[in-house]
Amino acid sequence: MKITDVALTLFSWESIPSTIYGHHTARPTGKSDLGLLAVTTDQGLTGHAFLGTSSNPASLDGPGLIRFLKPLLMGQDPLDRERLNRLLWARVRAATVRAIGACDIALWDIAGKAAGLPIHRLIGTTRDHIAAYASSEIHGSSEAYVEQARHYQSTGWRAYKIHPPQSWRDDIKVCEAVRKAVGDDYTVMLDSTWSYRYEEALRVGRAIEEMGFYWYEDPLADQDIYNYVKLKQKLDIPILATEYPIGGLDSYVPWILERATDFLRGDVAVKGGITTLIKTAHLRSLPHELRGAPRRQFIEQRRQPARHHGYPKHRILRGLTSGRNAEIRPRRRNHRPSQRPRPRPDRTRPRRADRFRPDRTQKGRGT
Ligand SMILES: [Mg+2]
Repeated sequence: MKITDVALTLFSWESIPSTIYGHHTARPTGKSDLGLLAVTTDQGLTGHAFLGTSSNPASLDGPGLIRFLKPLLMGQDPLDRERLNRLLWARVRAATVRAIGACDIALWDIAGKAAGLPIHRLIGTTRDHIAAYASSEIHGSSEAYVEQARHYQSTGWRAYKIHPPQSWRDDIKVCEAVRKAVGDDYTVMLDSTWSYRYEEALRVGRAIEEMGFYWYEDPLADQDIYNYVKLKQKLDIPILATEYPIGGLDSYVPWILERATDFLRGDVAVKGGITTLIKTAHLRSLPHELRGAPRRQFIEQRRQPARHHGYPKHRILRGLTSGRNAEIRPRRRNHRPSQRPRPRPDRTRPRRADRFRPDRTQKGRGT
């Protein structure tokens, strides 16, 4: 099978509601355009993907896709997804990640049609349903949030996520009002969309932790990993970061290595398509120590007797976790140092330094 054409059709999108979700979004103009990408093959199969959003018109990403990515795909076997994925990412300095993601999705669409299976079957189905939550836009008053939250709760939504006004004191007030309105048993999350300094993020985090919020999303600037690490050590509520910046699989690496977030997040439109997200999801198979387990689990693991497997790899993993736990344990409110007397060092054996100095401890065996 060979790719014979790559075409993008633009559709104008008018009368878009002037909702905003944070200071990061462009001011609404009321119009945008969406693109429908079609990758055609010589066997009559066509793979489709969407390009563009209400704030990122496809007419901006489309020219780069046609100019830089189309020549790579023409004449290629669309089922060589991994090889083509590498070729597409090699052009990331010219084309956008959104354009790469659209091409990747279209290739998966061809694979699904060729196999006669939905894509979730191709990648291995793990479940057939998933819980959904309703997400707020930014409102001008706490009452508007309360009204919207109650509406979603009464219409069967399982959870409600707040995009707050992005002023930390007001944000806490909104969260308090919504929690009071929906009751303690309803699931509520906060997505602060990268709007706080560290000190503000800590205050808001402690407040919503007390209110029993389910997660705390993007409180700090999207690449402020240094302060995310500090914040994660101070809070028990799970932190969700990595929706942005735009990037591929490698954009997650510092977050995982630094344990700067509890959850990873992906979006086919901004992480380069389905291929990136499959690889990201597979990171879940890694040991807790490598993928940033919640702190409580770390502490529980730490309290258990250490298991020695005898392999250097395991010793390295424990070494990676021990430093982090040493920093975390003292901050626990109910933490008390162990009252057990520490075992006295065994002095019957010669100390390491003495073993190499026979004239001091091993009489008669020296030179
Ligand atoms: Mg978000």
